[in-house]
Amino acid sequence: MKRVVLIKYGELTTKKGNRNFFVNLLYKSIQNKLKDYNVVIFKDLSRMYIEFNDNDLDEILKRVNNIFGIHEYLVAYKIDTNEEEIKTKVLEIVKKESFNSFKVETKRSYKEFPINSQEFSKQLGGLILKNIDNIKVDVHNPELLVNVEIRKDYTYIYTNYYYGLGGYPNNTLGKGMLMLSGGIDSPVAGYLAMKRGIHVEALYFEAIPHTSINARNKVIDLCKKLAVYTNSIKLHIVPFTEIQENIYKTADPDYVITIMRRMMYRITERMAKRRKCLAIINGESVGQVASQTLTSMHVINNVTNYPVIRPVACLDKLEIMDIARKIDTYDISILPFEDCCTVFVPKHPVINPKLSLCDEMEERFDYKDLINKCLKNIKTITITENNDKEFDDLL
Ligand code: ATP
Ligand code: MG
Repeated sequence: MKRVVLIKYGELTTKKGNRNFFVNLLYKSIQNKLKDYNVVIFKDLSRMYIEFNDNDLDEILKRVNNIFGIHEYLVAYKIDTNEEEIKTKVLEIVKKESFNSFKVETKRSYKEFPINSQEFSKQLGGLILKNIDNIKVDVHNPELLVNVEIRKDYTYIYTNYYYGLGGYPNNTLGKGMLMLSGGIDSPVAGYLAMKRGIHVEALYFEAIPHTSINARNKVIDLCKKLAVYTNSIKLHIVPFTEIQENIYKTADPDYVITIMRRMMYRITERMAKRRKCLAIINGESVGQVASQTLTSMHVINNVTNYPVIRPVACLDKLEIMDIARKIDTYDISILPFEDCCTVFVPKHPVINPKLSLCDEMEERFDYKDLINKCLKNIKTITITENNDKEFDDLL
């Protein structure tokens, strides 16, 4: 019996006029993720069907499980829409299962099929009861739910389904620039932004020799984890040492972090423009550290007019950690390599910074020139899920 992977869209189906646009993007996404396999994908307005080679099924399901825009997916038997054939096959399929109670649910989008859904479910139920001993029908809480979807040419039968990731297909909403540190929050922020259909590029500030190559490799490893949801992710590595040293030398110690973050935003905005990204994304979480009090965020955000999306802004650290574990970034994030923020962190960072003081301290060195220089020396690498390339030559 032929099987197909059947994909249901969920939230996408609420996009009336734009449905085609979303469905086409999802189609592209799936095609992209399954390009290594011999598959044929059919789409209609509410479903996609993937035909596959039996040996590849496990791998295909693993990949489908990591594609945004899918509400549910399942493996269905595909047979001709023919009353007798459906009855024979349903029995054959159900006989393979072990269960005490069951229910048959028929959906008949092909209205010319001669028996209505309710009546057909009843007939199929009767057939199953007659042929299998010691089972009963339970319409409220069945152990086995037998789904029969009758369409014009084909009928799909399935007894199991899985929830997909939901969200919107990759690139539905254009690009965003993710400020990616080696910490716990920013990979989660990246994942959540991707889930809403933003195609993410990542930007990492490093301050070699104050930060190590291990810290950078950590960020590369985080990118590999995020690349699972797309095909690849671009990582821009920003040489931030000179700017950081200048801040450290000139600013009042309690303002070092505030000013450093304002510089990061300035550079991120410039890079976002250059890469045609429409938003900045980061892992700031309200109240988490001194630079994330509302006053700090206000003063730091003041250097850019770009939309800044902070997917984890209102999550507790524990909630963020839960997502980090789910997307498998947690163990990488907790590796103890110092990031440029931690290296230069003062004893008492200001929690209520003043804008005028920032402006004044920033005049103490020629930051505009250094930012230009920094932007010129950004290195970009493309990272894929299974990348085993070494990037040491970037040093
Ligand atoms: P994370 O927030 O990812 O756990 P963190 O707590 O070390 O890392 P914070 O000091 O909270 O980082 O910084 C807030 C946000 O600023 C980060 O989530 C990240 O988006 C951005 N950021 C901080 N440091 C860097 C860096 N070195 N490169 C790129 N972005 C950074
Ligand atoms: Mg943080």
